[in-house]
Amino acid sequence: MIRTRPSYRDISLYSPPSVPCRVDLSDNTNLFGMPPAAERALREIASSTVTRYPISYAPDLKQALSAYTGFEPSWLSTGCGSDDLIDCSLRAFLEPGEPLAVPEPSFSMMSYFAKVNGLHYSPVPLRKDFDIDVDGLLATGARLIYVCSPNNPTGTGVSRAALERLVDAAPGLVLLDEAYVEFASGSHVELVRSRPNVLVTRTLSKAFGLAGMRVGYAIGRPEVIAELEKARGPYKHTGIAERMAIAALTEGVAWVKARAEEAKESRQRLVAELKAQGLAPLPSEANFVLVPLPGAPQVAARMRELDVNVRSFQGMPGVGDALRIGCGPWPMMEAALQALREARR
Ligand SMILES: *Cc1c(COP(=O)(O)O)cnc(C)c1O
Repeated sequence: MIRTRPSYRDISLYSPPSVPCRVDLSDNTNLFGMPPAAERALREIASSTVTRYPISYAPDLKQALSAYTGFEPSWLSTGCGSDDLIDCSLRAFLEPGEPLAVPEPSFSMMSYFAKVNGLHYSPVPLRKDFDIDVDGLLATGARLIYVCSPNNPTGTGVSRAALERLVDAAPGLVLLDEAYVEFASGSHVELVRSRPNVLVTRTLSKAFGLAGMRVGYAIGRPEVIAELEKARGPYKHTGIAERMAIAALTEGVAWVKARAEEAKESRQRLVAELKAQGLAPLPSEANFVLVPLPGAPQVAARMRELDVNVRSFQGMPGVGDALRIGCGPWPMMEAALQALREARR
């Protein structure tokens, strides 16, 4: 018998129900597809991109991200999805046994990342208005506090006032997850310039339509990024993913912005239609809408029989049962609304 790690005994693998459906609105990816520039880059991949190692620490990708974000390359790191950057930052800034403070409900992967890094997971309920509980987060004493804005799965944004108060009083780093920033009314990334203890993570998996390529990035002060890169290691992307990401960030931005606008229009219409069905969706700044609905798991199962997949949650703190519906082309939203109507009958 091999000796296993006791703290790993109860870790279960992340496995959202994956059911092939004609309309899949379950994972918040870009339902319009990928930027044509990225598709072109994929077709034109040179064989050396496959046979050789990519350049360590992805300087070309950082250059493209620098042009897109306005931050110097030394303020940027990249990873195998932003999941990877979150994981690396926990390793880089916390020793095993330390607390990790996370609002609840928020990104479900955080408790998993806490466990695999030997951290003590300290969930802190969101306030009734879905803003963060600053004093509650500070009371954990955690030297790394995670905040997601717009927040998955609620779709709500954190207020600037609460975030600034948190950052200014935090004993360590505040990790701000902006996976859905392209769909929000604004970003908090400028805090990175005015404060020493903020690290922002973003991804090309959502608005940029490249979830399968696994590319995320982080923005922070050079001294923060330097620590993060120690935990990262030299090679995190395939050469193919790098070429596609660079194409998307240079020639694909107009396409991405236009599709994000369409997703926001769909969101607005979807919210109105859900309200017309007598439901009370949460205000969303992301490309999905959370709808509290008793019996949501059963409703979602019936919707899947009608070929529409949405994510369901059971007994979420502060929300209860709920459906999370991704926003994309309006015909998909119509299919979801129709399936929801039938499933609730
Ligand atoms: C989807 C998502 C991510 C990003 O995942 P990738 O690893 O970049 O694909 C990060 N944070 C939140 C809250 C998400 O919903």
